[in-house]
Amino acid sequence: MYIEVVLPVLIADTFTYFVPPEMEAQIVSGSMVCVPFGKNKQYSGLVSHIRLIPPENIQSIKPIVAVENTNPVIRRPQLRFWEWISDYYLCSLGEVYKAVLPAGFRLEKSAYNEKKETFVRYSSEYRNPEKLPEAFIKTKRAAKQEQLLLAFVQLIKTKKPASEGISKKELLLKSHSSDLALQGLIKKGILETYEESVSRLEIYDSEVQPLNILNTLQEQAYREIVQSFRIKDVCLLHGVTSSGKTEIYTHLIQEALQLNRQVLYLVPEIALTRQLTERLQKFFGDKLGVYHSGINQNERVEIWNNLLNDSGYQIILGVRSSVFLPFRDLGLIIVDEEHETSYKQQDPAPRYHARNAAIVLATMHGAKVVLGSATPSIESFYNAQRGKYGYVKLEKRFEDTKLPSIIPVDVKELRRKKRMKSIFSPLLIEKMQKTLENGEQILLFQNRRGFAPLIRCKICDWTPKCRFCDISLNYHKKYNQLTCHYCGKTYRIPTECPECGSADLSYRGYGTEKVEEEIQSLFPDIPVERMDSDTTHKKHSVQEILSRFESGETKILVGTQMISKGLDFDKVSLVGIVNADSLMNLPDFRAYERAYQLMSQVAGRAGRRKKQGEVILQTSHPDHPLIQMVLQHNYEGMYEMQMEERSLFRYPPFFRIIEITLKHKNEGLLTEAAVRFASLLRNELHDRVIGPDKPVVSKIKNLYIRRILLKVEITASIPVIREILFEAQKELLEQQSYKYVTVQYDVDPV
Ligand code: ADP
Ligand code: ZN
Ligand code: ZN
Repeated sequence: MYIEVVLPVLIADTFTYFVPPEMEAQIVSGSMVCVPFGKNKQYSGLVSHIRLIPPENIQSIKPIVAVENTNPVIRRPQLRFWEWISDYYLCSLGEVYKAVLPAGFRLEKSAYNEKKETFVRYSSEYRNPEKLPEAFIKTKRAAKQEQLLLAFVQLIKTKKPASEGISKKELLLKSHSSDLALQGLIKKGILETYEESVSRLEIYDSEVQPLNILNTLQEQAYREIVQSFRIKDVCLLHGVTSSGKTEIYTHLIQEALQLNRQVLYLVPEIALTRQLTERLQKFFGDKLGVYHSGINQNERVEIWNNLLNDSGYQIILGVRSSVFLPFRDLGLIIVDEEHETSYKQQDPAPRYHARNAAIVLATMHGAKVVLGSATPSIESFYNAQRGKYGYVKLEKRFEDTKLPSIIPVDVKELRRKKRMKSIFSPLLIEKMQKTLENGEQILLFQNRRGFAPLIRCKICDWTPKCRFCDISLNYHKKYNQLTCHYCGKTYRIPTECPECGSADLSYRGYGTEKVEEEIQSLFPDIPVERMDSDTTHKKHSVQEILSRFESGETKILVGTQMISKGLDFDKVSLVGIVNADSLMNLPDFRAYERAYQLMSQVAGRAGRRKKQGEVILQTSHPDHPLIQMVLQHNYEGMYEMQMEERSLFRYPPFFRIIEITLKHKNEGLLTEAAVRFASLLRNELHDRVIGPDKPVVSKIKNLYIRRILLKVEITASIPVIREILFEAQKELLEQQSYKYVTVQYDVDPV
């Protein structure tokens, strides 16, 4: 028997191996095998298929070493899905395998280990219930032991299914006893301890509730979605924040479960979805599994195994990588906040977009897809407009609360009149005061972290840059240092300019740290917190910050886009967008779309139930068309404006972009290689090839970077383009001097 095996190496999709006859019976597609590789390596590989025709060069084919896992670790459509990912996103099957299969399944990685816990049970002598009175006589003179034994007897009765033991931790906790009392009972020969493997997965053991009843508008939207599923596989649910999209999802989920099909519920970032998990658990109990990047390798294996079991989870709430889980039969995929860029994997390969991949995955399962957003991506809205997706709109908030009123403030004008108090306008300060007086809360949004993004010598314009990256350094006041936001390297703060010796250095721009400091000095007695990637390093810090805000302990929360989504706090009545301009000035064709989405999303945090919220938007360009559209909640206006530009400059959704990145430590050599590569591509693809260019940040971690852009017709065949790219790459790298140039592809970059 000859098999094809996927290995965690980049060079090819699969490798051929021979299976000795005595192992043949254990091999199926999806088994894990241990194989020799290269001179003296061994890898765990996944059997993609058994060859029908023996390979030509039989002599050079090596036999496998062992079968590691007879039961398949993936389910049937999964391999096909991997193949699609590797074809479309221009990477090898090995790269998909490496990124997707939990490392715990691979022997060369630290393998999975079971979690053990100590349990307590009756010793063999006391297992007979008739002996129980005797046990109590023995503890007569030890009150603590008696109390513990009593608790044990009670707890063991309530265990379902009837089990012989109870976890020691649980026993001591629930009986309010010490280990000492337990040791006493063990010494008397009444109880004993033993070790047992336990699941790492959380168990939900409270009652489940029936779903909420949908209001008229929600009910209508729900019906429209179901209706659209009769003829279309994907439906875009365009509903303002707090309109009850989540409630509608729960009804769609229930329907899929009734057909005994599974549901994948994708969310952009799990850190902020504790509220959502609790909300769903209330309805679906332990049918729900949660999958995110914070869980460790062992938990990953357990969730994976749970799903390989036919009676495993029926709903997975998860981040982008959960599209790769071994689902038995998906009936529905929900992509919430479908416009979020964190659905796109940046590094390493496969650089997939989870929303788009989910749509393909759904086709393979015969499942339906709901894309939900208050501010859909231009791509999805376009697909809805031309009838490829169904489209359902929900324009009213639940209980008909009005959308927040957004008030623009012209900071340029105020600055000219010297009326700004540092970075705050008088109106924002006044509104903050009033909000605090009313006992309500405030969110302040600033999309940059740190204190000041730019330091500059006032005499000669020198600015400090990272030694390893071509980018200026950010000033972080708390740590009193400069930080590179690309490689994380930190530097001391210069006391004088190294170029001209002047001590007159200025700090330009501002980030969340500065906003926090300014707020604190304006309102010294008010508890303020900051949430950005600098304050959320630790495992539970996001949840801690959020629960202090939720409880009302913190009054003002300052943050980056981390505070823009998923938060549902009743007492936030004011939102401040401190600097709208910095959102719009990004060098990216999606900058306006992004800025619109972010501002609307942040604004949506103001005022939830019953009360209309207020948003103060500080900008130097209050008349800018985009700002006007944000003020009027005019999504369609923004869409029309952007579509015109996109079509003019050949951008998505009219054209498909493939970004090619070349890297090398020698800049001269890299420049030559990039020019050569572009010209090889131009032979075939002509003016669809743009560049090479020096990107805005042209060196990261000591590697220089050049970029080539492809703009290809949406209708162009990906396999043809793949062929052209890989041929050109081969030709380039065959040249000895270019051998170590790194080439990366990013299809549909965001
Ligand atoms: P969205 O997902 O569109 O932002 P949600 O589903 O989170 O909106 O609804 C906003 C708030 O209103 C939530 O607190 C939710 O519990 C409540 N809500 C919405 N619809 C209903 C309903 N039909 N019954 C009870 N509560 C609802
Ligand atoms: Zn200087
Ligand atoms: Zn750096």
